[in-house]
Amino acid sequence: MDKKNIDWENLGFGYVQTEKRYVSNFKDGKWDDGVLTEDANIVLNECAGVLQYAQTVFEGMKAYTTEDGRIVVFRPDLNAKRMVDSAKRLEMPPFPEERFVDAIEKVVKANAEYVPPYGSGATLYLRPYMFGSNPVIGVKPANEYQFRIFATPVGPYFKGGAKPVTICISDFDRAAPHGTGHIKAGLNYAMSLHAIVTAHANGFDENMYLDSATRTKVEETGGANFIFVTKDNKVVTPHSNTILPSITRRSLMYIAEHYLGLEVEERDVYVEELKDFAECGLCGTAAVISPVGKVVDHGKEICFPSGMEKMGPITQKLYDTLTGIQMGRIEAPEGWLKVIE
Ligand SMILES: *Cc1c(COP(=O)(O)O)cnc(C)c1O
Repeated sequence: MDKKNIDWENLGFGYVQTEKRYVSNFKDGKWDDGVLTEDANIVLNECAGVLQYAQTVFEGMKAYTTEDGRIVVFRPDLNAKRMVDSAKRLEMPPFPEERFVDAIEKVVKANAEYVPPYGSGATLYLRPYMFGSNPVIGVKPANEYQFRIFATPVGPYFKGGAKPVTICISDFDRAAPHGTGHIKAGLNYAMSLHAIVTAHANGFDENMYLDSATRTKVEETGGANFIFVTKDNKVVTPHSNTILPSITRRSLMYIAEHYLGLEVEERDVYVEELKDFAECGLCGTAAVISPVGKVVDHGKEICFPSGMEKMGPITQKLYDTLTGIQMGRIEAPEGWLKVIE
């Protein structure tokens, strides 16, 4: 198979239209068989549920070329399951998990020429999503839905090495107790835009959101979970039912324990104790881990000993191990790589 003539190393993170996407429609109480289509546009009624009341959820994952030339997707079964949880919370009909994984496989196969070559640092980003498609004006769930998956090649997240970022403790809240913080819904992102634009205007890369009930505990950023490393090499991640359960973070915690032999803890993490950690990272599909060098709490700087030049040593090991697994250089735990053949 020939690859597309794309300058993979210099691709950014933007939408590049590819040839095929998957579409399935839910009507009269059931999902249809679903098809691959070349039509990238969606025609919707002006009163579609998604346009009026934001009834939409999404997922994100990547396909890679491994060192030995296979195309793989990382743990798509977990994305399938998480999307079921997201859909249920917004009163949407779940798209069956096994069909989700099958549709991912179809989309990757159909766009195989867009899966970047091994070593380029680029990947094929996959975006499954679903939305209420029929007219809804009185506030209620739609009764027709569309599920789609498109693919778009994205460049290396870090060009020229991962530079630690500076983040600020936000005065905005991301999620309420018993709200929707734990699901992957567009609505959580819509309301985060003002907060991130504000953070950028103030010279910060990202927001650290606190628990909105007490504002004493660390939750996550707008699109990535936190991991911390203690001075005695324990890997700690915040426990909260208002953060989005990142698949990257869950995988890193497993790697810390089972590959690196480190102690791991999922527990409350207080703002108070930030100054005691040795390393901090943001984890998600986009960057795997983005190191944090500094947290600014209303003018007060908390600098991690790992500094502003490079990742801390444990963060680096976690990063190398997970990317090694994803690229087929290190043996993956059973079921972590879905090979597309
Ligand atoms: C998607 C997302 C993450 C990262 O999850 P991954 O499964 O690791 O990509 C973290 N936080 C939020 C709010 C998210 O939407």
